[in-house]
Amino acid sequence: MTDGQLRIAMISVHSCPVGTLGTRDTGGMNVYIMELAGELGKQGHLVDVYTRVHDPADDQIYSLGQNARLIHIKAGAVEQIHKLATYSHLPEFACNVEEFRKTNDLEYDLVFSHYWLSAWVGQYLQEWWHIPHLTMFHTLGAVKNTVGFGEDEPELRVETEKELARSGHRIIAPTEKEKEELVQRYGSSPENISVVPCGVNLELFQPLDKKMAREGLGLDDDNIILFVGRIEPLKGIEQLLKAMTYLKNDRCPRLAIVGGDESSQSHVEKLKELSRELGIEDSVTFFGPIKQERLSYFYSAADVCVISSYYESFGLVALESLACGTPVVTNDVGDSRNIIRQGETGYVITDNEPRHLAEKMDLLLSGPGLDKESVLKIRASVGEFAWSHIAEAITGEFRKVMDSHLAPAP
Ligand code: UDP
Repeated sequence: MTDGQLRIAMISVHSCPVGTLGTRDTGGMNVYIMELAGELGKQGHLVDVYTRVHDPADDQIYSLGQNARLIHIKAGAVEQIHKLATYSHLPEFACNVEEFRKTNDLEYDLVFSHYWLSAWVGQYLQEWWHIPHLTMFHTLGAVKNTVGFGEDEPELRVETEKELARSGHRIIAPTEKEKEELVQRYGSSPENISVVPCGVNLELFQPLDKKMAREGLGLDDDNIILFVGRIEPLKGIEQLLKAMTYLKNDRCPRLAIVGGDESSQSHVEKLKELSRELGIEDSVTFFGPIKQERLSYFYSAADVCVISSYYESFGLVALESLACGTPVVTNDVGDSRNIIRQGETGYVITDNEPRHLAEKMDLLLSGPGLDKESVLKIRASVGEFAWSHIAEAITGEFRKVMDSHLAPAP
C-alpha cells in the first residue's frame, strides 16, 4: 500500500454494476457504485467491486478504469435470478469472495457494502478480515412498505435490515431524511450514521443546444416534459400522466418517458392504457431504456424534468437534469429539498397531486424558455455534487472509521 492509498472491497451481490440502466433492478445504486469506484480509483485508491456472476459469457474480472475492477463471484446458478433468491446464496458468495482474496493474495483496508443483501455479506467479511465495514442501504424496506406502492417488501428484508442497522456498522445515508428513518424505524444509533449525498458526472451530463438535441431525437414539439427512471409503481408515473391533463399550456407538450424494458412491460402497458383513458396517448412517447451517454440529449431537449415518485432514497435524475441546465419539478422525495432551489432551479411540491405538479410545470413551460446564462446557472447549482467531491467526502468517512477501528478500547 502506498502512502494514503486505501484498498477497498465494495460489495454489490444482487445487481451487476454494469447492467443496463433503467431496467427493473438496475438504476441509481448501480450508477453510484460505478461512479464512486471509478472516482476512488482515479484518486489513487485500489477498488475491487464484487458481484454475483449471472451470465456464463462474463469474464471473471473487468477493468472499471484506473485502479478499479469488477469481480464476478459464483453463488448459485449462473443465471439471472430474482434478487430475493440470492439470499440463500449469500454464505456461498461470502466464502467465494474469501477464496478469491486468498488465491490472489489480496488484503483490504475496509469493506463498503450496498443494499441489505450485500450488507449481510459485508458483516461476515468484516469479521473474517478484521477490518471496518461501512454500508449503504440505498432504499429501506420499512419505508417502502409504509409508502404502500409497488410490491410489499418481505419481512426477511425488513428484519435483516433492522438487525444490520442496529449492529454498529458505519452507515452512509444519502440524506438527513434517511438518517432519521434509520433511527426512528430501525433503532440505529445516530452517531453510527454519516450523511454524504450522491453525486453527478458533470462530464457526461452537459447542456446541449436544445434545438440540436430535439432534432437528434426526432422531436419537433413546442414543449417537452421528461421522465427518466426505472418504470415501476413506486415512481408514480400515473401522477405525471394525470398532471398532463391539468396543464394550462395549449402548446401541445410532449411527455418523453425514458426507462423500462421487457421486465417492466406490464407496468408500461398499464401506463399506456391510462394515457388512452386520459386522452393523451398521442402526446406520450415511451423511449425504453437509454444509455447514460445519450441522456444529455433528452435532458437538454426537455423544458422540464418531472419526478413524481412516492419514494426515492436520493434521486440521481434530479441532479443529472440540473447538470444539463434543465429545471426539475418533483415531489418531496430523496434529497430534492437540498438539491433544488425553489423557484430558481425548479420546484418541490409536498403532496404529489397531479394538479400541483401541473401548476409548477406550467410555470416553467409558459415562459420564453431559458437563455444560455440561466442554463449555466442551473448547472452551476449542482457543482458541489461532482463525484470528485463526493469521493473525497466518502474517503473522509473511511478514514474516520479506520482510525476508530485502530484506536485501543478505552
Ligand atoms: N437511467 C439510465 N437510463 C435509463 C433510465 C435511467 O441511464 O433509461 C439512469 C439515470 O441516469 C440515473 C439512474 O438510472 O442515473 C436512476 O437513478 P435514480 O436515483 O433517479 O433512481 P433509482 O433507480 O435509484 O430509483
